[in-house]
Amino acid sequence: MLSPQIGSAIQKANLFEEVREFGESLKVKVAEATSELQERNVSLQTLQHITTNITRTLDFGKAVQNIADSVATELGYIGAVLVFLDDDGRTVRARAITETPLTRKAMKVLPIKFNEYTTDINDPSSNSLGHQAIRSGEIKTTEHFSDVVSPPLPKPLAAMLQKLLGMKSMVIIPIVSEGRTIGVIEIGLQKGLSEISKQEIATMQSMADELGIVSRNLKLFDQLRKANDDLELANKHLQQLDQAKSEFVSIASHQLRTPMTGIMGYLSMMVEGDFGKIEPKHMEILKNLLEESQRMIRLINLFLNVSKIEAGKFTITRKEVQMIDVIDREVRELTKIASDKGLELKWRKPTAPFRTISVDADKLQDVLLNLIDNAIKYTKEGSVTISAEESASGITVHIKDTGIGISKANIAELFNKFVRAQGIAQIHPDGSGLGLFIAKSIVEGHNGKIWVESDGEGQGSTFSFWLPFGGEVGTTTLKGAL
Ligand code: ADP
Repeated sequence: MLSPQIGSAIQKANLFEEVREFGESLKVKVAEATSELQERNVSLQTLQHITTNITRTLDFGKAVQNIADSVATELGYIGAVLVFLDDDGRTVRARAITETPLTRKAMKVLPIKFNEYTTDINDPSSNSLGHQAIRSGEIKTTEHFSDVVSPPLPKPLAAMLQKLLGMKSMVIIPIVSEGRTIGVIEIGLQKGLSEISKQEIATMQSMADELGIVSRNLKLFDQLRKANDDLELANKHLQQLDQAKSEFVSIASHQLRTPMTGIMGYLSMMVEGDFGKIEPKHMEILKNLLEESQRMIRLINLFLNVSKIEAGKFTITRKEVQMIDVIDREVRELTKIASDKGLELKWRKPTAPFRTISVDADKLQDVLLNLIDNAIKYTKEGSVTISAEESASGITVHIKDTGIGISKANIAELFNKFVRAQGIAQIHPDGSGLGLFIAKSIVEGHNGKIWVESDGEGQGSTFSFWLPFGGEVGTTTLKGAL
């Protein structure tokens, strides 16, 4: 029996030995982990480099060539062949081969260009490792180049090329995009299969994944570009149609206006009694006809103005005028129409004259006519109030009514061509939705601004426009909408 002292000494010695062994194995493990981490770090940096390189281009051909080249420059292998399925989903074709002096030399040995070799993925007789990898989605490896390239390359040619390139092994990695194998990267290495580390395979795999993503993005980009081209084409076509329509409207309006003006002239003379006395019951009809033909001519003029604006033929001839006089004239014209409807047309005429302003008085007369006429048209009872004020920068005119008002939803679009507020066509069927568009074009043609304010339906509206001082006297043409 050992003495207790000796027993405890042995125990301690055993314990010491265990601790020492543990320390040793820990050291080895740390060293292993460190080297693995270092390797992973290098591979991540390499991948990052490759990614930046390939995402710089939006051309699929260039992107795949960049990847093929980085197999030599970044990963230090002999090179790679990037093989893809064509859009038909069956033809297998190499799309890029690493370009180095050595691979170029090898390429010269081929009787035809590398991308002219094609195989059919569904052909059971061609069972290269590339095909196998595409079909199974699994990584394949070999030490025989012919396993990869024959067919289509004859086996002796494959063996000769392997020797020329100094290639000991090949790794074939599937490229997956949206869950489908779309091709493979076939990487040629100068070392045997047993010397390839797991980390290296992982890096190759990440590269193939990257390629899958790039390929998907480029395909999407390509689709977008095509869609954009189609849109542009459609847009051009629409512009041509729009132009043809404008020309048609312009011709038709001219053709209509001439006889209508004649009809209106005669009707007006008849109403005035120039052709003798008219029976009261006929007078009623004649007055109606006169009103209708005036309305029609106004509509034709609206159409003509819009087609002129669109064709870039709408001119503005500026002269120095007193704006108060321009408003005066228009108010005089419309007072009767307002009072016939039981509305009061109030003109808060400024007491002192304004600075004269350089504008096209006729065109502004049209703007005023349209805004005041609308105010009367869209007001059942109450009044229409016109006011104007002068500031250092220009003149602002307001046309305020107590009418049907405008909802927030409609306000933004009203100045666009053919736009009328929702539901308005049932109450006032005879509108065109063109008046405000023309008013806006004219005001903006004077570098001014036009806007409307309304607290909503039933709350009345205030249309205002501002014209700046300092416009040059003379004729300018409005920029066409086309
Ligand atoms: P139109 O009056 O021929 O329909 P406009 O371009 O002059 O065409 O006006 C466009 C639309 O704006 C009108 O249909 C109407 O819905 C709305 N609108 C214009 N002026 C007023 C107003 N004073 N009050 C309420 N709504 C108006």
